[in-house]
Amino acid sequence: MQDVYGCIKSLIPEHQVTVRHTGKLESKCEIFVENLRREDIRITFWGDIARKFDMERVKQLSPPVLAVFTGLRLTKFQERVTAATTCHTCIIINPDIPIANEYKAEFSKAGDKVKVLPLPFKRPTVEEMKDKTTKSVFELNTLDPNIYMNKTVYCTASILRFPVHNGWWYRGCSKCFKQLKQRENSGELICPKHDVQIAVPCCKVYVTIRDDNNQATLILMGRQAEQLFGINCQDLVNKRLYPTEQTLPEEIKKTTDETYLFEITVNEYSELMVRNIFPSKQSFASMVEQTPTTVPPERLSTERKRNIEASGKALCIVEPEKKAKNEKETKRGAMISASSVSSSASKEQLQKEKAD
Ligand SMILES: [Zn+2]
Repeated sequence: MQDVYGCIKSLIPEHQVTVRHTGKLESKCEIFVENLRREDIRITFWGDIARKFDMERVKQLSPPVLAVFTGLRLTKFQERVTAATTCHTCIIINPDIPIANEYKAEFSKAGDKVKVLPLPFKRPTVEEMKDKTTKSVFELNTLDPNIYMNKTVYCTASILRFPVHNGWWYRGCSKCFKQLKQRENSGELICPKHDVQIAVPCCKVYVTIRDDNNQATLILMGRQAEQLFGINCQDLVNKRLYPTEQTLPEEIKKTTDETYLFEITVNEYSELMVRNIFPSKQSFASMVEQTPTTVPPERLSTERKRNIEASGKALCIVEPEKKAKNEKETKRGAMISASSVSSSASKEQLQKEKAD
């Protein structure tokens, strides 16, 4: 087991995934941490740790948010080392350790604020798809709103293009995400329901899809759009260096020519709205890795008991396995530094955190 220290750069909020070998739902969230060389590692939080992790607090801390994650299990996945929490894991935010100063010097730029990434795709299983209505692209164009307004249909098609005559985002209300209107005399942005609001950028793009025979145009908005583009609309707008509103960012452009499963509903104006979007089966298989830490039940219960006896309030106790570092670990250097944070120091720090 290893401890990891670094700067929290981004996180994917808690969500439920089906664990492959048990078929059960479990909570998961992901944190991306960088070392001084700006190399990153993904740490997956499972179960209680994912549920209890105070994402809001981390989001609001001023950068850099430095943290120690103890008792992680490291694995190699698709040529990259990734980490996952175990029952030994403790998370200590901004621990008072000597190397923190070097990190603070490196990670104090505006871009080092913690980013919240969109949730990953959750494709329906074969079982869930059994009683769903699937339509061809041709059939989408003839959907009767009177019949399909509150129903969803599924369609497999590829993205042909994004017509940009109306741009790709709008200024939305921070409470209800409806488009804000400019008040004539003052220029203030107002929501019909929530009065004057600070605008938040919201994605709204038209997307033309096609199958072998036909094309149809759908409207893609909000969370679904962010999920497809892999970036929040706010971030997309912030990093925008495009000459006009009609120029598509690279993140949007790169999704064309790919095949997706669309979950679609039709609104009162007969417009086709995307309710959900999933990568096609082929590409999806390589995107998932659902293997939480498994601990034999017997071992788990004795360790839990021991932890409670020893520390009472602490979430868990840090007991990194004492083993010789191999070459690979040494190369990662400051990133994974089991020795720099001893278990007793972590415990003290954790207690201090709790006391604050
Ligand atoms: Zn509103």
